[in-house]
Amino acid sequence: MIVRFLQFLLAFLVVRILWGLIRSLFSKPASPPRAAPAGKTEQRGEVVRCERCDLHVPKERAVVRDGRTFCSDDCVDSRGRA
Ligand SMILES: [Zn+2]
Repeated sequence: MIVRFLQFLLAFLVVRILWGLIRSLFSKPASPPRAAPAGKTEQRGEVVRCERCDLHVPKERAVVRDGRTFCSDDCVDSRGRA
């Protein structure tokens, strides 16, 4: 009885490991096309464009002021000037 349970458990683990491998194999080809487009298109929420100098910066590094995004504090300070 317990042997059958262990066999089932083992089979379950093997299936899970294989499934993880298959998933990683299928998810890998998805990343190169994302890096391919030149900095023009905004990668969903990851990179934002500075409204001052048009520089693309990672969202976590971007500075948001008044609902606008900037690459740095320098651009935030110079936004009003010409
Ligand atoms: Zn900037």
